[in-house]
Amino acid sequence: MTILVLGGAGYIGSHAVDQLVNQGYDVAVIDNLLTGHKAAVHSKARFYQGDIREKEFVQSVFQKEKIEGVIHFAASSLVGESVENPLKYFNNNVSGTEIVLEVMHEFKVKSIVFSSTAATYGEPEENPITEMTPTNPKNPYGESKLMMEKMMRWCDEAYGIKFVALRYFNVAGAKADASIGEDHAPETHLIPIILQVALGQREQLAIFGDDYPTEDGTCVRDYVHVEDLIAAHILALEYLKAGNPSNIFNLGSNSGYSVKQMLGAARKVTKKDIPAKVAPRRAGDPGTLVAASDKAKAVLGWQPQYTEVEEIIATAWNWHVSHPYGYKE
Ligand code: UDP
Repeated sequence: MTILVLGGAGYIGSHAVDQLVNQGYDVAVIDNLLTGHKAAVHSKARFYQGDIREKEFVQSVFQKEKIEGVIHFAASSLVGESVENPLKYFNNNVSGTEIVLEVMHEFKVKSIVFSSTAATYGEPEENPITEMTPTNPKNPYGESKLMMEKMMRWCDEAYGIKFVALRYFNVAGAKADASIGEDHAPETHLIPIILQVALGQREQLAIFGDDYPTEDGTCVRDYVHVEDLIAAHILALEYLKAGNPSNIFNLGSNSGYSVKQMLGAARKVTKKDIPAKVAPRRAGDPGTLVAASDKAKAVLGWQPQYTEVEEIIATAWNWHVSHPYGYKE
């Protein structure tokens, strides 16, 4: 039986494919390669290039493969872009997921684990955020992910398709051997941008706002290593396989770091200056987002291995130094 990974050529998806293959799972991948990289996909996974919005294509993959479960990473994920172009997000994320669920129902595939996001919570009044914190997305990206969660809930009631939604906080780092890592164009995420400055590929880091109600005035986020994040996906697959009910879990580290603290940590890891200047706030950025991930630990038995941001940054740095142009080389 096979695990189908949607979006398996992306940053997070490729780490999932790698870990699944290395743990002995049989893996098939769908990716349209709009933002993913074929070179990131483990050679032992069967690769199907195509779009989840094309139902006949998705059906053809379900016909060829004996799919036992789906892990769904195939989505657009840039907050700023979603504000400018919300329909792209409702089309790619919501319509794409609707097609996936239709085909799962048709082929009687009953388990899906999928990437959701802390953006479903919007700007909560209290941190750390638990799964009981009310959802109130502040941008179309978060809204689209919440809609996907809700679609799955009703598909569970009607068709018995069980889901686990994993609400990610800030995913970072790379595989320890630096064979796969983060390669976005354009890059918008804090850690890769800091490391591009360290490599001399950018002049300086723009710190988006230092007037937030946080200790040093810069935004506080909760960084989780991509390999730990994927471990939770595999635990979630096994949780569903064991017949457990649909569920939602936060994935974070329970500790917050400000942009300035991340910069300091990166300077320590890279031993580079990393020039930075304070710039205006970025639209839509909440001041503080920190997860309570106790539920994932208690119910899934999740045990993150990377507990220090320096360690997370170090794995990202190894990837950036060995792949200064990402997968292009
Ligand atoms: N950030 C920054 N400069 C950058 C990129 C990001 O100051 O060039 C800040 C951003 O405002 C946020 C944090 O770094 O507070 C993490 O941003 P990222 O885009 O990595 O993830 P997000 O929290 O938006 O999912």
